[in-house]
Amino acid sequence: MVLRTARVGLRLTPAQRKRCFGLLVSAGDVWACVLDMNRWRRQRGLPAVVSYQALCRELSAAGPGTFGELDAQGARSVLRRYSDAWFAAAKNRKSGDVSARFPRRKRRLMPVRYYHGTFTLDGQRLRLPVSRGCAPLWVRLDREVPYPVEQVRSVTLLNEGGRLFVEVTAEVPIATYAPGTEPDRDRVAGVDPGVIHPFAASGPDGEGLVVSGRAIRAETHLHLKDTKHRRRTMATRAPKPGQVGSRRWRKYRARQRKLEARHKRRVKQAQHEAAKTVVDWAVQRRIGTLVVGDPRGVLEIKAGRLHNKRINDWRVDYLLRCLKDKAEQAGIRVVLVDERGTSSTCPACGRRVPKPTGRRFTCMRCGFTGHRDLVGGANIARRAPGGTITTTNKFPVVITHRRAGRHLPGTGPARRDPRRRPHHGAIAGSVGRPRPAPPPGGESLAPGEDQPTRSHRDERWLTRH
Ligand SMILES: [Zn+2]
Repeated sequence: MVLRTARVGLRLTPAQRKRCFGLLVSAGDVWACVLDMNRWRRQRGLPAVVSYQALCRELSAAGPGTFGELDAQGARSVLRRYSDAWFAAAKNRKSGDVSARFPRRKRRLMPVRYYHGTFTLDGQRLRLPVSRGCAPLWVRLDREVPYPVEQVRSVTLLNEGGRLFVEVTAEVPIATYAPGTEPDRDRVAGVDPGVIHPFAASGPDGEGLVVSGRAIRAETHLHLKDTKHRRRTMATRAPKPGQVGSRRWRKYRARQRKLEARHKRRVKQAQHEAAKTVVDWAVQRRIGTLVVGDPRGVLEIKAGRLHNKRINDWRVDYLLRCLKDKAEQAGIRVVLVDERGTSSTCPACGRRVPKPTGRRFTCMRCGFTGHRDLVGGANIARRAPGGTITTTNKFPVVITHRRAGRHLPGTGPARRDPRRRPHHGAIAGSVGRPRPAPPPGGESLAPGEDQPTRSHRDERWLTRH
């Protein structure tokens, strides 16, 4: 069994929205209370209260109804969060990481988690527990929860850029396969993570997979451009130090947060798609081991602001985590190896070749050519953690191309796509999907709403040609 989390949006009435935000604010109050209490104790030389049980005792001493509509279970989830964060920081500090910090920042809103048995999930409706005496709080989800109800372990109410979501965590069994179709540990594929191609996999039997991430990069570029523009507008409204921001300024900031959150969601979604593509591909080919190149060792090197930005936008940590999680659920082993030098070594003769600038890898010594990222994948497949050559995979001949982030705006349809609309009304544009000629006599067999579009199109066609 593995834990999986899905995020589901909420469809709320203004009153429900207000109550949900009330819960988050109350949770923020709980968090602030704990911080204040421990600061007070520290100043008096008393030990901080950090264990979950001790914090719960403090909470019950406060009595019911201290935190508005937030019930004891919800408040305890905040205490759990504090306790976990404190002990994680303590552990990191003990192991020599001086940058690890104990929780100390107050937040206006804090996510609230409800564990199994405290909430009710009924199709697309969810009842969140509230403290005794308050009206029951039912909210509507904007889609079905992708897990069976009996597997759901917890729901977390959270705010992201002014929008409310619930994160549903469920225990999902590891995939089972019919005999003869299960992944085989000895069938190895090398996976090369990259910026333009989030994943390029080179598998056995000369098969390869290239997942294109150009849509993700386009989204990142568009977002950056948009942000720059917005910053310029906002700069004139920014409050001076000591001033309270104007109402317009607050609106600008809310918008910026919203768009930032949306961008993050879009990129994450596309990265999940990319990882899913790789895992599905591997399952179909009975690949039981994915050897993944880990580029994180070389990312620490500073290489100018352009490169740094590119690396930050890549979010490779998250990308690799997606792949690992999905592979784990599919019963595939993931091995991380150092990817240094894998994209500049010839897979045919094994000699070092200067790293190609384009997508095409050419060896000037033996004349081998191939897709640059697949070369990386092929070399990574041979790199077991011990440094020994374990597989003799053929270099991919059959290459599958897939795209990640097809839902993203700006991912225009392909140039020859019949759905492509004329470009800004230019004469050179296509007139759209070929349609049958209208029946003679003017009467139409098509549904009524189709009619005006067609006549409009025909008119335009006539005037332009
Ligand atoms: Zn060569």
